[in-house]
Amino acid sequence: MSDIQFFGHIIDGEEVESLDGARFDVWNPWTQEVFAQAAEAGAADAARAVESSRRAFDEGPWPRMGRAERAAAIHRLADLMEERADDLACLDSTNMGKPFAQAKHDVGRSVWNFRFFADHQRDHVGEVYPMDSGHHSYSEFGPAGVVAAISPWNFPLMMATWKIAPAIAWGNTCIIKPSEDTPASVTLLGRLAIEAGFPPGVLNVLNGHGAPAGAALTADERVDRVTFTGSSTTGKAVMASAATHLAPVSLELGGKGANLVFDDADLDNAVHWAVEAIFRNSGQICLAGSRLFVQSGVYDEFMDRFRAAAEALVIGDPFDPATRFSVLASRRHFEKVRGYVESVEEQGGKVLTGGVDEDGAWLVRPTIVTDLPLTAPQYCEEIFGPVCVVNRFETEDDVVALANDTRYGLNAMVFTENLSRAHRVSSRLRAGTVWVNCFFIRDLRTPFGGVGDSGVGREGGNFSREFFTEPKAVVMQIDRG
Ligand code: NAD
Repeated sequence: MSDIQFFGHIIDGEEVESLDGARFDVWNPWTQEVFAQAAEAGAADAARAVESSRRAFDEGPWPRMGRAERAAAIHRLADLMEERADDLACLDSTNMGKPFAQAKHDVGRSVWNFRFFADHQRDHVGEVYPMDSGHHSYSEFGPAGVVAAISPWNFPLMMATWKIAPAIAWGNTCIIKPSEDTPASVTLLGRLAIEAGFPPGVLNVLNGHGAPAGAALTADERVDRVTFTGSSTTGKAVMASAATHLAPVSLELGGKGANLVFDDADLDNAVHWAVEAIFRNSGQICLAGSRLFVQSGVYDEFMDRFRAAAEALVIGDPFDPATRFSVLASRRHFEKVRGYVESVEEQGGKVLTGGVDEDGAWLVRPTIVTDLPLTAPQYCEEIFGPVCVVNRFETEDDVVALANDTRYGLNAMVFTENLSRAHRVSSRLRAGTVWVNCFFIRDLRTPFGGVGDSGVGREGGNFSREFFTEPKAVVMQIDRG
């Protein structure tokens, strides 16, 4: 047990134990061993974190400093993240089984989250409204206050930084509660924020479970904004809790993405992205293309190639450079995904390839399922694993109706070489993001979020500015005549 690491809370510029000394085990899902312990927050620890961030907001320099100075501080943190990129990636790979190259890619995107929002707030342009009455009005975007951010385990560092970066860039102070499954990389981020010279309380990290730690944060009336990424079920509880003190919420929730491959698609490209969309990160992606619809004319050829590409993915140790696909992030999650896969046949479906490994690893192979009825749980519910449910379609109208027939609406993909169809179908799809002939590409200026059970609100660029500030109108008299 001697080389077990410890991840404390980062509160008020220090790494601390919980007030009662409670800790929980942190697992490596590849070795199935505990590699660390983390401090386990109770309600009193959450209150202590909120008190610190409240003080930092009400009395500290962060909300009051110039935009350029704040941007420089955030860039300093980004520099340190780049210096420690291997360590950050190593923690995510160890903690959730993500192939190391993918974890490194996530660190790059996390760094960019900070750099982008630092510059976005520094350089942002307000609006002035000249009025015929002899006045003009302008808008001002002041920080909102204390932000509680709650993140999931599938992209531990990237999802957390997607919340933290705009929150602190706009002058707020922030408490991040990472998932209890993956506290490691976010705690290292908190340590780097201390090293970067952030004033105490600007970025606090609270480790612990959804209840009591997360629930105590969302219910605390000293919290001014709640930004949450996680499951739709938890999102509803978070929204209800924040409503008790009227804190605005931003919810990025689950998905059941539709991937539409038309007869005229470039099949090499469509197969490449279909594989990425459902098997990257072992399918543990909210944006996964988990419902794949292939038009009749190319169905057989596409399926042969898709299956071959899925079977060619190298499965193994996350730290082996050849590995493209690895285990699921926890035993609990493995059991959930296994349940869906093992009941495919009783639901009337066929497993074309893949299935559950029986050698004790928490591994579900890249799995392709056909012939399922449209009422089957595997088709309707978010599995959040490497399970692709495939259907054949005939017409554009048919596939748009199928794609939209879900409570979710996070994203969709369209593969076609017909420009008019690409625009027409994208416009008809009920989803927060539509990717045409690609997947997973983000421009941080654009809105990101979901429809229906996939979320409430949008983040990104000016959408993040709206959420993380209190926009104010200032009306001035110009002409007294
Ligand atoms: P989850 O809802 O179980 O947990 C998410 C976070 O909420 C964790 O930190 C957890 O501790 C916390 N939590 C749990 N109960 C809480 C409560 N009552 N109050 C406050 N916090 C609470 O989700 P998960 O299993 O960690 O993540 C997987 C889910 O996240 C999937 O549904 C996936 O689609 C979704 N997700 C969405 C996006 C997106 O951008 N839309 C991105 C990544 C993941």
